[in-house]
Amino acid sequence: MGRIGFIGLGAMGRPMASNLARKGFALVVHDMRREPVEALAKLGATAGNGVAGVTHASEIVVTMLPDSPDVEAAALGPGGILDNAKPGQMLMDMSTVDPGTTDKLAAAAAKKGVGFVDAPVGRLVQHAIEGKSLFMVGGSKDDVARVRPLLEAMGDTIYHCGPAGAGTRTKLVNNYLAIFHCVLNAEALAFATALKLDLKTTLDVIYGTTAVNGQNKVNWPNKVLKGDTTPGFRIALAHKDASLITEAARKAGVPMFVGVAAREMLGQAMRTGDFADKDFSAMLDYVCQQAKVNPPRL
Ligand code: NAD
Repeated sequence: MGRIGFIGLGAMGRPMASNLARKGFALVVHDMRREPVEALAKLGATAGNGVAGVTHASEIVVTMLPDSPDVEAAALGPGGILDNAKPGQMLMDMSTVDPGTTDKLAAAAAKKGVGFVDAPVGRLVQHAIEGKSLFMVGGSKDDVARVRPLLEAMGDTIYHCGPAGAGTRTKLVNNYLAIFHCVLNAEALAFATALKLDLKTTLDVIYGTTAVNGQNKVNWPNKVLKGDTTPGFRIALAHKDASLITEAARKAGVPMFVGVAAREMLGQAMRTGDFADKDFSAMLDYVCQQAKVNPPRL
């Protein structure tokens, strides 16, 4: 396989690209920040000369950027990936974006004879570090086969969800539940704290009934409940996803009362204090702040 371009080396992109480098892929990388580029260079990657430089130097270009406008600028903007790509190259967007953005990328890539796959990522940063991510992939059978070795180097679970766009759409459904559970857990555990209940006993009860969920069982004990609110998944990105989800649901004619409430709570946490760049489990601390109780810790 030729060189792999990797654009966006943040909380997720950096460990994902690091796994590719460690597993022998020739990488050329780019981020607007120097620090993660230098870290990747220490693992043998080449620092790319911007988006255009990465595209010229790679067979497959991967994007792992925060939001739809970032991906559109990098892929569709003047001097961007598709401006510089040649027929036969391939673009794989792994960011969580609006389905309309994915559809635009797929159409623009097809027009240029460039392969396209959307492969957003499930699970947590820790899984990305361990090379145990889950991928929800949209694309043709041939395009998905072409990126499979990369996905296998970065994760251990791959679902081919359907044609281009199906990965992004599946990710929004999945994140609706993951993000909503965070908000719901925050209210439940602030409630338990206000009632002066013992946290460990309360969690044991929750884990023993159908009240259990992946956030309160897997993420929270390793993050907010042990006092670590560094991201992880930033509340600003959870708010971005909640906005993508409720807008996509509106377009699909699906009522989403709970989703809209969760989105507004995330937005309020961002505007109140300094929650935007904390892990999304820190919604517990936000609700406790509102309830005027001390955030519980294990
Ligand atoms: P992040 O904010 O930590 O990292 C984004 C990176 O992109 C940063 O290093 C930033 O400097 C870089 N960047 C931004 N704009 C750029 C540009 N125009 N050119 C070059 N570099 C640019 O975000 P993240 O947590 O790594 O998330 C990336 C994507 O993956 C998002 O869409 C997010 O919703 C999704 N995601 C995140 C998680 C998670 O747990 N953090 C899990 C699954 C999916």
